[in-house]
Amino acid sequence: MNVSFGHPSSFRNERGLFYALDLGGTNFRVLRVQLGGKDGRVVNQEFAEVSIPPHLMTGGSEELFDYIAAELAKFVKTEGEDFHLSPGRQRELGFTFSFPVRQLSITSGTLIKWTKGFSIEDVVGQDVVLELTKALEKQGLDMRVAALVNDTIGTLAGGRYLNNDVIAAVILGTGTNAAYVECANAIPKWHGLLPKSGEMVINMEWGNFRSSHLPITEYDHALDVESLNPGEQICEKIISGMYLGDIVRRVLLSMAEEAAFFGDTVPPQLKVPFILRTPDMSAMHHDTSPDLKVVGNKLKDILGIPNTSLKTRKAVVELCNIVATRGARLSAAGILGILKKLGRDVVKEGEKQRTVLAMDGGLYEHYTEFRVCLESTLKELLGEEVSANVSVEHSNDGSGIGAALLAASHSQYL
Ligand code: ADP
Ligand code: MG
Repeated sequence: MNVSFGHPSSFRNERGLFYALDLGGTNFRVLRVQLGGKDGRVVNQEFAEVSIPPHLMTGGSEELFDYIAAELAKFVKTEGEDFHLSPGRQRELGFTFSFPVRQLSITSGTLIKWTKGFSIEDVVGQDVVLELTKALEKQGLDMRVAALVNDTIGTLAGGRYLNNDVIAAVILGTGTNAAYVECANAIPKWHGLLPKSGEMVINMEWGNFRSSHLPITEYDHALDVESLNPGEQICEKIISGMYLGDIVRRVLLSMAEEAAFFGDTVPPQLKVPFILRTPDMSAMHHDTSPDLKVVGNKLKDILGIPNTSLKTRKAVVELCNIVATRGARLSAAGILGILKKLGRDVVKEGEKQRTVLAMDGGLYEHYTEFRVCLESTLKELLGEEVSANVSVEHSNDGSGIGAALLAASHSQYL
C-alpha cells in the first residue's frame, strides 16, 4: 500500500495549458489540455498514442526514456493555435507512471520494481522523474515535470474533477490496480501532517495481492514461474489483459497433450508463450456466428490448427468464458472490498449517497463479456438496494486528464 500525494477534490480553478504523459504498459500516450478554471474546466484537449517497441521494454533505461522524450517533443511541436501557454511560462507536465513507486514527493519517486512485461534493471531504485527530466533536456524540450502519479491516481483525480461522487478508480488494462479516497486519520502508516480536507488517496497496488484464498491453478502457477516477475503480481496475473489469453493457451496446450483435443499431434504453435493475446481470446469469446467462424479462423491463423469441428470451437469459447469469468468476478470482489472499507456496501438510513467508481483500461473497455460479468457480480454481491446507488463509469482517458490536472494544481506558478 502506498500513500499518494495531492488531493483530487481540492482542485477546480486550474487554468492554462498542461501536458501529460502516460506510461503504463502496451502503449504510451501524450496529451495536452487547456484548462479553463471553474466554469470552463477542460476547454480543449488533444492526444497521441504510440506503442512501445518491445525491445525497449527490456533494454536500457536511457533508450526507453530517450524514446519517450523524443515522442513527447514531436507532440509538443504540433501544438496549435487553440492552445495557449501564458507568456514567460515553462510548459508543465503530469507524468503518469503506472508501476510500483516509492513516492518521495509530488515530483519524485523511485521505482520499486517493474511489472507487466517490463524489465530494465538500471531503473530500479532510481528516481523516474529525474530520468525523464534528463531525457527531456537532451531533446532540448523546456518542460518541467510538475506531478508524478500513476494511472489509478490520475483516473481518480480526473473522475472526481468531473463528478464528486467518484470515490475510487480501478484500472483493468494490461495490468490491474485500484485507488480510493480514505479518511486521513484511518491510515495508521501515515505519520505526516494531516491534509486540510481530512482525506488522502490510497494507491492499493492490488495487482500484487496474493492469498491462499485465490483460486490458483497449475496453469497460473506455471505462468507465474515463467514470467519476468515470478512470485509477484499474483492477482494481476489472474485478472488482467496481459495474461488472460496466455492462461487460455496453457489450458489448451494441456488439453492437446493430455486428451488429444486437437488430434494426434500437439500443435507446435500452442507452445509459444503469449502467442494468443487477450484481444484474440475476446474475439473468440464474442463470436456469435452459428459455425463459430471467428474461433475457427483464430485457431487456424494464430495457432496453426485448421479444420476444427464445431464441438471443439464450442469448447474453446467455454474455456474463454471460464477464464474471463474468474478474472471479472475477482475484480468485482476487489471493488466490494473497497466499498466495505468505506462503509458504502450498505444503505445508510436517511442518506442518499451515490457512489461512483471511475474505471479505465483496455480490458474493461473492449472485453464486453468481462465487463458485463464484473458489473453483474458487483450487483450480486451488493444486492439490489445498495447497487442502485453504485455505478461504474468508464473514464475515457481520465488518467491523462487527471495527471494534467495534478500538474496544474502543483504548478510552479501558483
Ligand atoms: P495500458 O494498461 O497498457 O495502459 P490499455 O488500458 O490501453 O493499456 O489496455 C491495453 C490492454 O487491454 C491490452 O494489453 C489488452 O490486454 C487489453 N485489450 C485491448 N483490446 C482488447 C480487446 N478487444 N479485448 C480484450 N482485451 C483487450
Ligand atoms: Mg493505461
